Amino acid sequence: MIVTALSTAHQDYLKTVWAMTEWDAEPVTSKALGAKLGQPPSTVSETVRRLTERGLLRHAPYGTIELSEAGRAAAVQMVRRHRLLETFLVDYLDYAWDEVHDEAEILEHAVSDAFVERLDDRLGRPVRDPHGDPIPSRDGSVPGLGAVRLSERHDPATFVVARVSDADPDLLRHLTGLGVVLDSPLVLVERRDFAGTLAVEIGGIATELGLRAAEAIWVLPAD
Ligand SMILES: [Zn+2]
Repeated sequence: MIVTALSTAHQDYLKTVWAMTEWDAEPVTSKALGAKLGQPPSTVSETVRRLTERGLLRHAPYGTIELSEAGRAAAVQMVRRHRLLETFLVDYLDYAWDEVHDEAEILEHAVSDAFVERLDDRLGRPVRDPHGDPIPSRDGSVPGLGAVRLSERHDPATFVVARVSDADPDLLRHLTGLGVVLDSPLVLVERRDFAGTLAVEIGGIATELGLRAAEAIWVLPAD
C-alpha cells in the first residue's frame, strides 16, 4: 500500500487510530476518534465504513476500531513522515518543540516518499523525534522505548526524561520553563497525592509538578 494514494482525511484517520493506542491500552471507539479529530459522529462513521471497505480498518468486538495489517502499515508510514519532519524543523529550522506538531501535520501530507527518504538520510536516520517519540523505520518497525509515565512512579528515584507528550503546546512550554529537557535527569523527591503534585528536582532545582504535567512525561530509571 502506497500511503500517498490515500486522501488526506484517510491518512489522518489511520495515523490517529495508531497514535491513540501507542501510549494507552484503551480500545479506540468512534466517539473517542471523533473527539480526537474534531469531527461529528456522522463523518466518523462514514469514513470508518469506507476505510473498512478498503480493508484498512476493521470492527473489533464491542464496536471498537482496529487497524488491519495494511492499515497499520499505512499509519506507520504517516507517523514516520510526521516525526522525521518534526526532527527536521527542530534540527535545521530552529523550531521549538512546542511549535513543530502543527507544521508537521501540514507537511506530512505534502512531501513525496523520495523527500522523506532523503530527509531521513540527511538527519542521520534518527530513532526518536524532538519529543522522544520513536521514529518508525522504513520497513515499518517501531523502536521500543520501555519508558513509563512519571505519574505512575511512587518511590523517590532519579530518572531520565525519555519522552514528553506533544499533545498540548501550552504544557510543553510549561515544561520548558521548568527546565524539562529530553534525556536529562529528573529526580522524584516525594509524591504528594494529597495535593495532586510531585516534588521533583530538575537541573538541580527543586520544584513541583502537577499530576497532569507528570502524566505527560515518560521516564526511564537513571543507572
Ligand atoms: Zn513528536
